[in-house]
Amino acid sequence: MTYLAKNYNRKKISFKYGKGSYLFSTDNKKYLDFVQGIAVNSLGHAHPKLVKTIRDQSKKLWHVSNAFQIPEGEKLARKLCKKTFADYVIFQNSGAEATEAAIKVARRYFYSIGKTNKNKILCVRNSFHGRTLAAIYASGSKKMTEGFGPKVSGFDHFVFGDHKSLKKKITKNTAAIMVETIMGEGGIKVIPDWCLVELRKLCNKKKILLILDEVQCGIARSGDFFAFEKSKVKPDIVPIAKGIGGGFPIGAVLMNKKVAAGMTPGTHGSTFGGNPLAMAVGNSVMDIVSNKRFLKNVKDISKYFLLKLNNLKNVYPNTIKNIRGKGLLIGIQLHTDQTIFIKKLMDNKLLTIRAAENVVRILPPLNVKKNEVNQALKIINKVCKELN
Ligand SMILES: *Cc1c(COP(=O)(O)O)cnc(C)c1O
Repeated sequence: MTYLAKNYNRKKISFKYGKGSYLFSTDNKKYLDFVQGIAVNSLGHAHPKLVKTIRDQSKKLWHVSNAFQIPEGEKLARKLCKKTFADYVIFQNSGAEATEAAIKVARRYFYSIGKTNKNKILCVRNSFHGRTLAAIYASGSKKMTEGFGPKVSGFDHFVFGDHKSLKKKITKNTAAIMVETIMGEGGIKVIPDWCLVELRKLCNKKKILLILDEVQCGIARSGDFFAFEKSKVKPDIVPIAKGIGGGFPIGAVLMNKKVAAGMTPGTHGSTFGGNPLAMAVGNSVMDIVSNKRFLKNVKDISKYFLLKLNNLKNVYPNTIKNIRGKGLLIGIQLHTDQTIFIKKLMDNKLLTIRAAENVVRILPPLNVKKNEVNQALKIINKVCKELN
């Protein structure tokens, strides 16, 4: 008997503890964890530096209201701005809150310059921006919104990759285009750099804002600190979450000076967002993942992993349709439903998670070791062979 509501389809497995890339189950089995809380534990389980940070900070101060100065938050905001396009940061607790805040910042900007009719956000159909009411209607997915009406208005949608429909959907009421730089839940679909460049040009031409949702693909997951970095594009607003807390719930919205001007005192707030305990952890994660050598390691191991997976695709073309992704946000797209494949990987002690379009999503910690990747490849190879 469980008193937890049945809104999740949980696997019948639970864990006692984790260490780095591994999880140890309550029935004493060792699993290679290539889910990591869905790109959340960027440094794996129980990273010594994060354990120390939490221990030290927990003895000093957990929570104070945002009515007061929070130096740990000042420090993290400064690091995020120095490292990226951003001039200002608002801290939240989750990805959905971060994307909602992004929407609020965009609308408030146009309000503050007297263009109150510009309030619609143009999004990709079947994208993922979180599970709050606004976020599910932003995502434009029938499945996620079913039964949760009345519809939250203010969102339009275009089909991923359909540039004609994108241009057609921009109206005089459009405030911003919001897209995931790499679609996570949607099946690990990468927006190519040239597309990001065109997207920025289009937004400039139409005088609208560009919001890049980096909740899943950001914070070094792609091999760069942000997945849009190599394109040299500067977005106006970027919501982040998952990886920045290394397992501790943190969300944030990053923005440039222009749009930040609308966020005057009292316009937005959060009770928990940016508390000293969360910020201390965020600072520790940031110090590690923004390091050049760390990022190069992510790139190197990703290159190796993707090459080997593509080799497997060539060996098992009837099972594997495509290898997708960037950095350590990787998708194995199968020809058919991925449920059995994921189950068999799990039986062989490798944890992965599904994404749309028959994709098996692979999210190792960013500090994964080469022998761990080799172990995963061996298991994937074995399962491919069995299903061939
Ligand atoms: C996970 C995710 C969210 C929502 O984050 P939560 O913390 O679950 O609210 C938003 N956008 C993207 C791209 C995500 O992957």
